[in-house]
Amino acid sequence: MFCNDYHSYHDRHKNQSKNLMEHIVIIGNGISGITTARHVRKLSDHRITVISAETDHFFSRTALMYVYMGHMKYENTKPYENYFWKKNRIELKRAYVNEVLTETQELVCDDGDRIKYDKLVIATGSKPNKFGWPGQDLDGVQGLYSFQDLQALEQNAPNKDVCKRAVIVGGGLIGIELAEMLRTRDIPVTFLVREKSFWNGVLPDGESGMLNRHINNHHIDLRLGTNLREIKSDESGRVKSVVIEETGEELPCNVVGLTAGVSPNISFLKEGPIKTDRGVLVNRLLETNAPNVYAIGDCAQQHEAIGNRRPIEAVWYTGRMMGEALAQTLCGNPTEYKPGHWFNSAKFLDIEYQTYGWVFSRKQEYEEHFHWKHEDDTKCITLAYHKDNGSFLGINTFGIRMRHEIFDRWLIENRSAAYVMQHLKEANFDPEFYAHFEKEIQAAFHNHQPVNA
Ligand SMILES: Cc1cc2nc3c(=O)[nH]c(=O)nc-3n(C[C@H](O)[C@H](O)[C@H](O)COP(=O)(O)OP(=O)(O)OC[C@H]3O[C@@H](n4cnc5c(N)ncnc54)[C@H](O)[C@@H]3O)c2cc1C
Repeated sequence: MFCNDYHSYHDRHKNQSKNLMEHIVIIGNGISGITTARHVRKLSDHRITVISAETDHFFSRTALMYVYMGHMKYENTKPYENYFWKKNRIELKRAYVNEVLTETQELVCDDGDRIKYDKLVIATGSKPNKFGWPGQDLDGVQGLYSFQDLQALEQNAPNKDVCKRAVIVGGGLIGIELAEMLRTRDIPVTFLVREKSFWNGVLPDGESGMLNRHINNHHIDLRLGTNLREIKSDESGRVKSVVIEETGEELPCNVVGLTAGVSPNISFLKEGPIKTDRGVLVNRLLETNAPNVYAIGDCAQQHEAIGNRRPIEAVWYTGRMMGEALAQTLCGNPTEYKPGHWFNSAKFLDIEYQTYGWVFSRKQEYEEHFHWKHEDDTKCITLAYHKDNGSFLGINTFGIRMRHEIFDRWLIENRSAAYVMQHLKEANFDPEFYAHFEKEIQAAFHNHQPVNA
């Protein structure tokens, strides 16, 4: 009896999922699209197709720099073997989607194919910003985002004989990566940064100042408070120099790297019915205004920002979290994107950076900062806490590796800054033989005498 019931339940369930089998089409094979595909496959039998114009297979975009620097081959940046996709019944298509026909639930690809979808996921990422600079489309002017950008860089800057100088425009995470890449081939680099101090819109002065010195120490010609006026062409249409706005100085160069931020890569949607602003507008369930159409990752824009987060979060972890949440929704378990506490990590030349919670570059009226910097000028932390009740708000660390799960827990538990300082050693992730600095940091914190902390 029990046995029969068991079988009938399973047969019914199997039939149900057969009936409900849908075609889920994902545009974009980056971290967000691929996370969705993998999780949908774990949860269901739906038919899955992933379309990408960039590469046949998913690769780690954050590892692109290591290919140019010779630490990795492109093949090693692919987290999954080529057989993985077939084995997991994830169909891959290499094409650019020109149009989304929401009425008929169809995509129009640049190879003429039309693809029907039951559910559509737009995960088309970002593209480098261009601000209408004269000469921005010349040969030798490029961004650093796609696999094709990596190939272009290999062509434009194979060595210091072909590329006698590169000028990078825009001081952020990608700009500094590009500078590091070029320096590994001994190519002279001038780095134009609009702000008075590097990444000072995000980092407090102490950290930003340390990075200015670190960049200069790496023989990168850092020009702060400097804007690009124009990129000049030689007679063959290749870049030959840039002109600086403030001084009129003309700098000869063979490559210009445009790294002044990114924006959602959604121009193919502009004429259609899917509502966009800077990105594709979505609610917490990552639904767009069009039925059965969702958007995730760098190209998605929340109608309303979540907490202190930006409405568009162009970071790796966000794409992954959105992909996981959306897979649940697509498989019948509606799940909101609830990102939890902010964290991120990056690298500035040889200084690793991590951030947990919120540390604002310009203190909010309720916020107090404790800043410690090592005398070697390559390690520092900034801890933010509430000036009224001393509660821990966030931490930035440079040159000291920390444990994500510990800071996440302390933020959830609403610990005080004093508690965090007292237990800092627990959060340290540096290997044992590394020098540890907790005692020095704790002594400095003690002298800092924070209010109520
Ligand atoms: C050099 C570099 C370093 C980075 N380092 C970090 C880091 O250290 N930490 C961090 O958090 N983030 C980092 N990022 C950002 C991070 O890589 C992105 O946030 C993330 O890759 C975005 O993933 P995504 O899936 O949303 O989009 P993407 O990875 O951009 O994937 C979108 C894909 O869709 C394709 N596509 C677009 N339009 C179409 C169309 N119409 N038809 C077909 N295909 C289309 C694109 O070609 C692309 O392949 C870095 C980015 C770069 C470029």
